[in-house]
Amino acid sequence: MSGPVARIGLTPSEPLASPFVSQRPRPRFVTSTGPSRSATSGGGVGHDGRLMKSALVVWGGWGGHEPEAVANLMAELLRSEGFEVEVSNSLGSFADLARLRSLSLIVPVWTMGEIAHELCDNVCAAVREDGVGIGGCHGGMCDAFRGSTEWQYMTGGQWVAHPGNDGVKYTIEIAKDVSHPITEGLADFEVSSEQYYLHTDPANLVLATTQFPNPTVTGTDAELVNPCRMPQVWTRQYGRGRVFYTALGHQRNVLEQPTPKEILRRGLLWAAK
Ligand SMILES: [Zn+2]
Repeated sequence: MSGPVARIGLTPSEPLASPFVSQRPRPRFVTSTGPSRSATSGGGVGHDGRLMKSALVVWGGWGGHEPEAVANLMAELLRSEGFEVEVSNSLGSFADLARLRSLSLIVPVWTMGEIAHELCDNVCAAVREDGVGIGGCHGGMCDAFRGSTEWQYMTGGQWVAHPGNDGVKYTIEIAKDVSHPITEGLADFEVSSEQYYLHTDPANLVLATTQFPNPTVTGTDAELVNPCRMPQVWTRQYGRGRVFYTALGHQRNVLEQPTPKEILRRGLLWAAK
């Protein structure tokens, strides 16, 4: 076996031959205008003649999360940053792998759904192999497809509980030992929402946490909680693609608050190819 065939493995002389080698975060953020987009980019050309970044926002699943309203917020944020955005309410939008590969960013807003293997494989392949970013929030990304371990491997977490349900007051603590453009300059803040308890990948770069147990939560929910500092905002690599997640976003109004919105905005921009 020889020749320029992409091989899976950490071959030092061909560091880019494998889709799995790019584990380190790439040193760029937000304002990159370098030649990172190919001629097959899904983005159009902006007024200044530069190729626009492109995003696909796909919403659906459990209606309690206001997926359409949250998806529209995602689209508004991205359009205000110059992205060309397609908003879809069908998982069928994941059927066109060539289209997915041409995107800068995929934003799932889909809770408690089921996804066909080939559709999940398409999203994973676009992120893993082409460096398309994926970013999202709350159950729309990390309680999207409970039956898909590959999806969870990519996103870095899966929701399992929110002790006390909605309306719990808790603090989001910014990780002080991590310098990152998504949380740079942000202070700890309080929210009243669902305090997400997740199963998370220890390889995530955790940018913000919340503490369990919550003193305002009592009863069975509190008894089941193991004391811990639970990741709430993280980034990770999935092959060549960047992954961003924030647990905030039970409904649109949570994400309209200044700091949660800023984390979301920065996170989506950071993840985009
Ligand atoms: Zn929720």
